[in-house]
Amino acid sequence: MTEAFTEIFSQLKVKENEDKVVDILNDIKVKINDINVIQNQNISNKNSYATVASTPSSTTKIPLGKGNTTIPSKDQVILIYPKKDNNNIKSSEETLKIPKKLRTVDVGVKPEKLLPISKNGVKINTSLAQVNEHALNAAGLTAEKPEKFKPRLAIMGVPAEWTAEIVGSKINEDLELDPEDTTRVKALFKYGRRNETTVTWVIECNYKIRDIILKRGELFYDWNACNVRDHIRLLTCYNCQNYGHMAANCRRNITCGYCTGEHDAKNCKSREDPVCINCKLSKEANVNHEAHDTNCPKYTRRLQSYINNTDYGP
Ligand SMILES: [Zn+2]
Ligand SMILES: [Zn+2]
Ligand SMILES: [Zn+2]
Repeated sequence: MTEAFTEIFSQLKVKENEDKVVDILNDIKVKINDINVIQNQNISNKNSYATVASTPSSTTKIPLGKGNTTIPSKDQVILIYPKKDNNNIKSSEETLKIPKKLRTVDVGVKPEKLLPISKNGVKINTSLAQVNEHALNAAGLTAEKPEKFKPRLAIMGVPAEWTAEIVGSKINEDLELDPEDTTRVKALFKYGRRNETTVTWVIECNYKIRDIILKRGELFYDWNACNVRDHIRLLTCYNCQNYGHMAANCRRNITCGYCTGEHDAKNCKSREDPVCINCKLSKEANVNHEAHDTNCPKYTRRLQSYINNTDYGP
């Protein structure tokens, strides 16, 4: 962290490097966010941040919606399908008509968002999680929980020129997983600052491999070692401020991360009076913060939902 601050101060002396300063500040925000997440995750384990930081190789156990770590979420997801012997339903729209006819209290689903899916199914984001399977079965439907996400890990200090294939094969080689092994890790994407010789790669693996990697705390390639940690973060778009995609793939209008206006955050004149677009759209009580605020209620809720829906093992 001190290194980053030293770098900021040296960059601040050179005005034309404003972009780089913004990059570094964003990097620090992300790091602070990670620390907050780890700290929050460990409150129930009675581990201080100091303990976690001093033993980076220990496996960070993430409480999965146990006790008071669960935040009531609008992002509970269930999948509803016609029962196998139900041949009357020919489309997702027809499937959806059935729970619509039933009372919310009977079926235990209060839809916030609906999406047609394959096999004439419907994906439902619900603010109620007490799904009454009996009521659905009696109406010719079944309910399923979606498959959980695989854990993600950040591998730091990877040579910038490496492709996903190289990263994947080097890690699998180090873990001695042979090409047929279905538990092989997959390199997803990289991030880092421009013009650096190394970057951070995000990989995906099953919970057993995650445990092995975190216990070691390092992955090796050739004669070098890369530090490893959990990657628990939502991808946030710098164009529209929404989650789950990058600015390069954004199809929405530009939205300022400070004031919700239709301009680049760099040109914002209302930075002193921030309004968070994501909290505004979700009608949160507290909207007076930047979209990238690490304590944003919408972000925190979505992140908790993501953790709850990730398979960290039994
Ligand atoms: Zn976007
Ligand atoms: Zn603005
Ligand atoms: Zn917010």
